[in-house]
Amino acid sequence: MKKIYYLPIVVLLLVMSIKNADARAFDLPALPYAANALEPVISEQTIQLHHGKHLRAYVTNLNNLIVGTKFENLSLEEIIKQSDGAIFNNAAQLWNHTLYFALLSPKGGGEPKGKLADAIQSTWGSFENFKKDFNALAVAQFGSGWAWLVKDASGKLSIVKTNNADNPLTKGLTAILAVDVWEHAYYLDYQNRRPDYLSELWKIINWDEASKRY
Ligand code: MN
Repeated sequence: MKKIYYLPIVVLLLVMSIKNADARAFDLPALPYAANALEPVISEQTIQLHHGKHLRAYVTNLNNLIVGTKFENLSLEEIIKQSDGAIFNNAAQLWNHTLYFALLSPKGGGEPKGKLADAIQSTWGSFENFKKDFNALAVAQFGSGWAWLVKDASGKLSIVKTNNADNPLTKGLTAILAVDVWEHAYYLDYQNRRPDYLSELWKIINWDEASKRY
């Protein structure tokens, strides 16, 4: 008779192990180029630390934080929209950095083409004006954060900055460009000279990738 009392526990453990096996674990997104490929704009050492240490830590933290929570089987986008605090910070930083690294390329630089180029032209008058406005806003972000080229629901482009891990996804905006202005993104290469980092970064912007997002 006693055996029967164990049955629910065995079933419960079985269900828990299956659920756990299904739980989401986010992976470190692979770099789409070699760590030294963005030199001299961004050094191999910066990429190794930024991607291999900072981003890896966000992924590890997120995976640890969501275990046993309502977030463990949600998509990254849903986690970002529904969470706050440490889960939000790590999830958003994974999303932000995935974009940032994908939007850089050793074959990048130059100017956007096609519809995105037309939209930038009609919004800012010229690509040069757009870059000037973008850099000014990115420099004005006080402390850690991000600068973005975004599109709203009507297709209108604008430049926005966000604090820390915050991003356009939470505001219903589509990110076209993502520029990390945390010091870890540039300090080894440019020290305190964020404007120099920003002006050099245009040489490696992946406009093909940005156009796909627009
Ligand atoms: Mn970063």
